[in-house]
Amino acid sequence: MYVVLKPDLDPEAQNRFIDELKNAHLEVVALPGLDRRAFALVGPPHAAERFASHPYVEELIRDEAPYKRVARALHPHDTLVSIGSLTVGGDAFVVIGGPCAVETPEQMQTIASQIRAAGAHGLRGGAYKPRSSPYSFQGHGIQGLVMLSDAGSRYGLPVVSEIMDAQDLPHLAAHVQALQVGARNMQNFSLLKTVGSQTLPVILKRGLSATLEELLLAAEYIVNAGNDQVILCERGIRTFETATRNTLDLNAVAWLKNKTHLPVLVDPSHGTGLAELVPPLSKAALAVGADGLLIEVHPDPTHAWSDGRQSLTPEAFSRLMRELRSLAEVIGRHMP
Ligand code: PEP
Ligand code: MN
Repeated sequence: MYVVLKPDLDPEAQNRFIDELKNAHLEVVALPGLDRRAFALVGPPHAAERFASHPYVEELIRDEAPYKRVARALHPHDTLVSIGSLTVGGDAFVVIGGPCAVETPEQMQTIASQIRAAGAHGLRGGAYKPRSSPYSFQGHGIQGLVMLSDAGSRYGLPVVSEIMDAQDLPHLAAHVQALQVGARNMQNFSLLKTVGSQTLPVILKRGLSATLEELLLAAEYIVNAGNDQVILCERGIRTFETATRNTLDLNAVAWLKNKTHLPVLVDPSHGTGLAELVPPLSKAALAVGADGLLIEVHPDPTHAWSDGRQSLTPEAFSRLMRELRSLAEVIGRHMP
C-alpha cells in the first residue's frame, strides 16, 4: 500500500500525519526520487485503509505486491552491493567463478590463478554442501573455508561461499566476503533473518520451485532484518523438461530488473547442468540485462568431487570471458 500526500501540505502537518500512521502500527517508508510525496506503508492493509479519506491524503494506492523494501517503486535507482573490493550492480557486468566444492588447497590455488588470469572478478567454492544424498561429499567445512580464503587472498579475488546453518556464520564471516544462501534454503526464514542481521552481503539463489514473488519476499526478509546488501541469483527451476538439469528462466532476469532495485546474477551452471550450454546461456544472460554470472569452473572437471558435468574447464572459461567482453562492448555494458 502506498499513500500519496496532498501537494500543499506543510512539513509539520506531514510529520503529524506520519506520526498518526505510526500510531496505527504502520511502518512508513519514504520513496526517494519520486515527484509526488509518496510513502510506502508496511503493515496490515486494513490499518492503511482507514487513512483513505484522511484530509491530507491525495490518494491511497492499493498495490498488491507484498514486497516493499526490495521494490523499485520504493527505490528507483539500482542498489550497488560490495563484495570486498568488487561492486555488483549498476553498469558493470561481473563474473564469479570457481568449483562447486572446495576439494584441496592445490585445486583452489590452481583454479584461483586460472580464473584470475582469465579476468574473473570473484572466487566461489562450497565448504558446506547441500547434497541430495547423505552419502555424497558434504564439504570440508572450516578447513574448506581456509583453502578458499587462502586462494582468494593470494590471487586478489573476493570469495563467496554457501551458508547452510546459522551456527556456521562466525566461521564464514572470518573467511568470506559474501554469503550464498542456496536454492534449497531460499525459504529457510530463520536463516534469512540470521543473514539479514549481519553485515556481509548475501547472494540469494532462487528456490527450485520458487516463484519470483517468493524470491523477492525471501529477499525482503533479509533487507527487513537490516541488511540491504542482497544480490538475487536465477539458477534454473524445475520444469517438465528433463533434457537439462533445470530450466534457466531468463524471463526472470528481465522481470526482476523491472520490479526490484537489487542486482541479479545468473548461474548457467546449475541452470543447465551441462558445461557445453554454459557459454551460450552466459551470453544470453548478459544480453537480457543480468548484472553478472556465477559459473562453476574446475581445473579437471571429469575428476570433480561434485557437479563436474556442468563445470567449465579453465580454457573454456577463458574463451567465454573473451567472448563476454566483446559482447559487453557491443551492447554498451562495462566489464571491469
Ligand atoms: C551451488 O552454487 O553450488 C549450489 C549448490 O547451488 P544451488 O543452491 O543453486 O543448487
Ligand atoms: Mn554445484
